[in-house]
Amino acid sequence: MKALSISCEFFPPRNEKGMLTLNSVRQKLQVLQPEYYSVTFGAGGSTQEKTFETVVQIQNESKTDAAPHLSCIGSTHDNVLKLLEDYQKHGVRRIVALRGDQPSGWAGPIGEFSYANELVEFIRAKTGSHFHIEVAAYPEFHPESRNAKEDIKYFKQKVEAGANSAITQYFYNADAYFRLLDSCAAQGIEIPIIPGIMPISNYEQLIRFSNTCGAEVPRWLQWRLRDFEDDIDGLQAFGIDVMTDLCGRLLAGGAPGLHFYTLNQSKLTLTITKRLGLY
Ligand code: FAD
Repeated sequence: MKALSISCEFFPPRNEKGMLTLNSVRQKLQVLQPEYYSVTFGAGGSTQEKTFETVVQIQNESKTDAAPHLSCIGSTHDNVLKLLEDYQKHGVRRIVALRGDQPSGWAGPIGEFSYANELVEFIRAKTGSHFHIEVAAYPEFHPESRNAKEDIKYFKQKVEAGANSAITQYFYNADAYFRLLDSCAAQGIEIPIIPGIMPISNYEQLIRFSNTCGAEVPRWLQWRLRDFEDDIDGLQAFGIDVMTDLCGRLLAGGAPGLHFYTLNQSKLTLTITKRLGLY
């Protein structure tokens, strides 16, 4: 039987203290023997250098591969090529290729890429098969998509451009993921599609994120979470039950792995995976 692909996502810490915290989080997560640690990338500038620094540090210090997210919106071919070359020099072999979103109020140049499939094509054209390329998938559809058919059509373009596997936006409804797998199978898309898992740590933050990225927090879950008010421990304990159940269903239904949006914390990811018997 093929081993499950477990991976963990971080955001680049803003300062030295955050980096030290992340190092300790990473060491704790190592018990999961993740396939890779990915590091997010802010479109439009501010955190991009921090992404690079964080990736290089993980790649140099950890037994686990580091995978930078690379979003192309607002960027140029030259800038992306330079980054790819720099990552290659540091031994990075995996990239999460994204379009990204323009920061609100952004008045910068539109850039030379319109969609993620163009970035995937560009990476393949310039670096051949050097990088394992992950792309994003949306079980509850991307917020800009006009309909479900179009969403899957454009996802297929990324696969045909050379993506090796996909990570999904987070979701709390297992059926949405299984339906996505069915649609992909119907379109002849065969790459592994790994569910993105967002442990529940904070109600307001979850609702804010979900409203912008198009992930649905079901009404029953919102109502249950709201009841905890300021009881963060109670909310997280309940969230662990919900997420363990969701992950268990996904794995039982054939999900090839789990990608944890850790928010640079280890506790929830480790508790959920322990309960699932993954270590
Ligand atoms: P695309 O695949 O290009 O799709 C974007 C939209 O355009 C979709 O609605 C799609 O259907 C449509 N579309 C695609 N091609 C065409 C076409 N040819 N013509 C018309 N419409 C088209 N954002 C960040 O800024 N930094 C990160 O680090 C980051 N990490 C992420 C990690 C994961 C796992 C996920 C799921 C998302 C992440 N995001 C990140 C968010 C992502 O950048 C946004 O969701 C963004 O809006 C879309 O990126 P994409 O790569 O899916 O875009």
